[in-house]
Amino acid sequence: MNEEKNPRKQYAIYIVICLLLLMFFNSMIMPMLNKAAIKDADYSFFLDQVDEGNVGKVQIEDTEIKFTVKDADGREQAYSTARIYDPDLVSRLHEQKEVEFAGSIQEQSPLRDFLLGWIIPILFMVVVWNLIFKSIGKRMGGLGNAMSFGKSNAKIYVKAQTGKTFDDVAGQDEAKEALAEIVDFLHNPDKYAEIGADLPKGALLVGPPGTGKTLLAQAVAGEAEVPFFSISGSEFVEMFVGMGAAKVRDLFSQATAKAPCIVFIDEIDTIGKKRDGQIGGNDEREQTLNQLLTEMDGFDGKKGVVILAATNRPESLDPALLRPGRFDRRIPVELPDLAGREAVLKVHAKKIKLSENIDFNAIARATAGASGAELANIINEAALRAVRSGRSSVDQSDLEESVEVVIAGYQRKNAVISQKEKEIIAYHEIGHALVAAKQKYSAPVHKITIIPRTSGALGYTMQVDEDEKFLLSKEEALSKLATLTGGRSAEELIFNTCTSGASNDIEKATQLARAMVTRYGMSSSFDMIALETVSNKYLGGDASLACSPETAAKIDEEVNNIVKKAHAKALQILSENSEKLHELAHFLLDKETITGEEFMAILGKETVPAV
Ligand code: ADP
Ligand code: ZN
Repeated sequence: MNEEKNPRKQYAIYIVICLLLLMFFNSMIMPMLNKAAIKDADYSFFLDQVDEGNVGKVQIEDTEIKFTVKDADGREQAYSTARIYDPDLVSRLHEQKEVEFAGSIQEQSPLRDFLLGWIIPILFMVVVWNLIFKSIGKRMGGLGNAMSFGKSNAKIYVKAQTGKTFDDVAGQDEAKEALAEIVDFLHNPDKYAEIGADLPKGALLVGPPGTGKTLLAQAVAGEAEVPFFSISGSEFVEMFVGMGAAKVRDLFSQATAKAPCIVFIDEIDTIGKKRDGQIGGNDEREQTLNQLLTEMDGFDGKKGVVILAATNRPESLDPALLRPGRFDRRIPVELPDLAGREAVLKVHAKKIKLSENIDFNAIARATAGASGAELANIINEAALRAVRSGRSSVDQSDLEESVEVVIAGYQRKNAVISQKEKEIIAYHEIGHALVAAKQKYSAPVHKITIIPRTSGALGYTMQVDEDEKFLLSKEEALSKLATLTGGRSAEELIFNTCTSGASNDIEKATQLARAMVTRYGMSSSFDMIALETVSNKYLGGDASLACSPETAAKIDEEVNNIVKKAHAKALQILSENSEKLHELAHFLLDKETITGEEFMAILGKETVPAV
């Protein structure tokens, strides 16, 4: 097991090491120190010294005799000798007037023993312990003092006002409506208390990344004019068991003190994962979650602390979090539709200087599937491009170019591509465009380019639907597949070869054909059967097969057949229109980028006989 995950084990190891060191010190070092102070001597030496009158003190024990002898300089040296049966010894010692009986020879100062035996080793251990933990703490991310258990070092982000309102959030009308009630509650909680209504303690904002969940939470706080506490779920997960729980306690006590207020927990799935009771589960995370549940139950909803949390993995959350009295409201925050995208673009465009006659609708149509954050980025890129080209306001071309920058990366102006390869790329792209244009159910071609991009794309064909599409029909899916295979088909037809340039097309075609078979029920061999389930739909949507291995083999076969048919269709379309293919490819080679209109103009006019 990872040491980070099991701090208890670590403690045990350190404590055992310290105890071992302590025992070693006491059993080996201490006696050696004592030995150094007392020299061994034989009995005759003792008797000689007694007779010579050099002996100072004598201490007679059961088995040994300890004595001190003054040397020439007057310093005392302690000796020890075995005790021999010697009845005369006492009287002999007595004769020597100077001998002191039974004095403590070994300098047996209890204080010194205590210091040497316990205090110094313990101090030593503490120093070593601290050094070890400091270095571990640093490795684990600056955990200053490892000994401060149960005390949170949470830097809780409090901002009196977020400065955001619902006007800053474009689209997302359903989410705003659901949150408006919470705003009203924070404005005058008494109204609700009078009737005896309990408002939701928490609401869960669910949706893909970058759709404005954080922004919505900030807007709620801004609209209600209350403080906004924000913390990310991952900040609760600490090295030591109990630290996360302490942070949760801290957060809630701070929030209760500042009520009414909003507490926003981002990425709540990091702590709110289902507790599955596995052996060796993550204690820290579970404790943190338990603490969160307890706190949510414990605080008085009427005081006006509202907890908003965001996640893009709702399916992995613990059901206990979702029960009434906790996050009982679930507010979907989906990717914006056409109108939503246009609205987001407009909201962000307010901050920049625009030329006249900007067509935001065109940009919104070209960005199907983009999130709010990506759209905000497009506007910013456009502004940057305007500055770069020395203009004082953003125009349509800036916006169009920045759409491509966000989709495919920057242009690689100095990429050196041989003429031969350029030709292949041009035919490939025109292959896509031509197959698309010659089919009934495909979106119109918007733009074709063979300028390489930093994403690695050597060229691409952009198709933009007239309106927003919510459904995908079987005919559309099949045309899409044919279009995807169009690039490779052109390479085969014209150059009698195939290149790696089609790898992305192949990936997309496979994905689509697979979905048709396993999820959309669009194949001839399977009926309406879900052969695959999508596990996290907001994050790429990994699918897992739910069928027997035989069926899986059949699926592969079916997918292959569908793609094969599409490929054959694309080849047929291109060979029927080979003159247009040549003409358009040469035009593209010449211009590098052509618009949908230019493309359609050439496609529509009478064929010029090839030279
Ligand atoms: P999430 O929390 O859902 O991952 P954020 O709220 O952090 O996304 O959004 C990131 C940024 O994207 C915001 O700061 C904002 O600039 C922009 N954004 C996203 N959605 C919207 C929207 N609906 N309206 C305006 N801006 C948006
Ligand atoms: Zn292609």
